[in-house]
Amino acid sequence: MQEDQRVFDVAIVGGGIGGTMLGTVLARHGVRVLLLEGSGHPRFAIGESTVPETTFGLRVLARRYDVPEIEHLATNAALRRHVSSNCGVKRNFGFVYHREGEPTRPDECTQYPTWGPPLGPDSHYFRQDVDAYMFHVAVSYGVTAYTHTMVDDVKFEEDGATLVTRDRGSFRASYVVDAGGMRAMLPERLGLRQEPPYRTRSRTIFTHMVGVRPFDAVSPPREQHRMPSPFSQGTLHHMFQGGWLWVIPFDNQSTSTSELCSVGLNLDLDRYPRPDDVSAEEEFWRHVRRFPSVARQFERARAVRPYVSTDRTQFASQKVVGDRWCLLPHASDFIDPLFSSGLAVTVMALNALGHRLIDAVRQDDFDTARFAYLDHWTKRMFRFYDDLVSCSYIAFDDFDLWNAWNRVWTLTTLYGTNAQNQAAVTYEKTHDPACFDILEMPPYRGLRGMDNPWVERMFDQSRDAVLAYRAGELTKEKTIARIYEVLGESGLVPSVWGTLDPGNRCPSGVFTLWPLMKILLWGKYRSPRHVRGSYFTGGARLVGKEAVQAYTSELRAGSSLVHQTVRDMWLNWNRDWARRPAPRK
Ligand SMILES: Cc1cc2nc3c(=O)[nH]c(=O)nc-3n(C[C@H](O)[C@H](O)[C@H](O)COP(=O)(O)OP(=O)(O)OC[C@H]3O[C@@H](n4cnc5c(N)ncnc54)[C@H](O)[C@@H]3O)c2cc1C
Repeated sequence: MQEDQRVFDVAIVGGGIGGTMLGTVLARHGVRVLLLEGSGHPRFAIGESTVPETTFGLRVLARRYDVPEIEHLATNAALRRHVSSNCGVKRNFGFVYHREGEPTRPDECTQYPTWGPPLGPDSHYFRQDVDAYMFHVAVSYGVTAYTHTMVDDVKFEEDGATLVTRDRGSFRASYVVDAGGMRAMLPERLGLRQEPPYRTRSRTIFTHMVGVRPFDAVSPPREQHRMPSPFSQGTLHHMFQGGWLWVIPFDNQSTSTSELCSVGLNLDLDRYPRPDDVSAEEEFWRHVRRFPSVARQFERARAVRPYVSTDRTQFASQKVVGDRWCLLPHASDFIDPLFSSGLAVTVMALNALGHRLIDAVRQDDFDTARFAYLDHWTKRMFRFYDDLVSCSYIAFDDFDLWNAWNRVWTLTTLYGTNAQNQAAVTYEKTHDPACFDILEMPPYRGLRGMDNPWVERMFDQSRDAVLAYRAGELTKEKTIARIYEVLGESGLVPSVWGTLDPGNRCPSGVFTLWPLMKILLWGKYRSPRHVRGSYFTGGARLVGKEAVQAYTSELRAGSSLVHQTVRDMWLNWNRDWARRPAPRK
């Protein structure tokens, strides 16, 4: 290898979903990128359930940096057509409460639907396919990528860094991004790992299975539970005191080619310390058998890969950026799989890091201060998720408490996604990527509306009530009453939502076109002053336009496939190869 083939602007350690997306974005804008992945593709990865802020963030990333291939991950229709038919659909977040030894009660469940087309629904990523797809996209944009290349060390000098690989020699780069996930190398080398400063203390046992039945086949009938979307069409959370279990099916859409279902048991570490004398598999099934409705769902299930059992799931680093390096979020910290925050925080960081690195390379100025925003907002989001998750584990004590606390989460989802939508609406009018800069200005920074003082106050006051309950300072009834009071006083709840009615267990309603219009109209004309003008200022036109585009692209894909099949019956020659877009270097 020639010496100049070993020198790059940015080196990315780790070729998972985060590293490959960052590499693609940078290469699209002329940065010389080296991507080093220790294993190969496809390879197993965890982090499968998306949330609206992940998919909206992906749409922003694709448009801001002009990489349409990233947008294929943003809706389920595009994902299964362009990326993999092994992925599942997520039309809802379903939460079902369980008591030991009892079948689930029909009125002890809640639901939050994801957006309908054109902006949804969300997806269950079969990560090995999604990550392999992104790896190939990165290569097609000009990233120099090597698989099976483990980076063992990085030595920093004044003008850059030298990356030492196990089998492929050394490389030079002006800047290093560690996208190595939870076992990332830089935090170890630089001594950044610290005892997680988080209240959440949980551990996880997970695997992939076949034979997991759709929960709708064993749950009480729909007339009794009254949830609008089938449980099996989304990410299902079985909740119980001190824990929860995820069910993420990949076989739940009509054209799926997968039989797999991801399952993961999450346990409060203090209530359920990790036993020394029980295998992960045995422990998993012991918990499943405690809850009759869960046991019925799993009666024909078997694992197709080894069970993974973690110690404490939380990890943390002292900081996210330093002199000529930064960590992607999953190399830095993690809280818990609950609420699927990992990819949302990663995409938020990629949006903020991309333009900073492009400018730094162009100006040959990698001053750490340029990247301080990333440090602040990544850490702040992890602190927020720690509050959200730790209070959820407390709320799992009692269904009514969960039913109240869950509403706080749904409201933060509304304001988080709407912030991203604000930028998308402006982009639709101007086609100027600079309009995405507002996402790094108040009140839109971070995720989940956390930068908005009204959302922050509503969240903090509700959290404090739950913590007071845990400390024995408030009764359960007073805690629940306080949460509804805070929600009501915030003025943030759309009048078309049933958030203040405990009997309404899907308080947001659904996000199909008409209910969506009703929320937009409330936001634009009837919401209080602190909402109006900052949120819901537009969107009807955007949604309408995207609906037509989604419909016509489905039609076009259908008719072009029919056309190709008929053609291939009669002709051997074609020019399909000439229609493929040229690599964009
Ligand atoms: C149990 C669990 C469940 C989760 N569930 C969800 C969920 O449902 N939804 C969600 O949004 N998020 C979830 N997450 C978080 C999610 O997994 C991460 O946010 C996401 O995978 C981050 O992607 P990444 O590319 O940064 O890292 P990864 O996907 O971890 O990829 C890191 C890559 O770096 C490579 N690598 C590591 N070290 C080196 C080295 N020294 N040299 C070369 N290569 C290296 C690895 O081989 C790997 O391919 C979950 C996390 C856990 C732990």
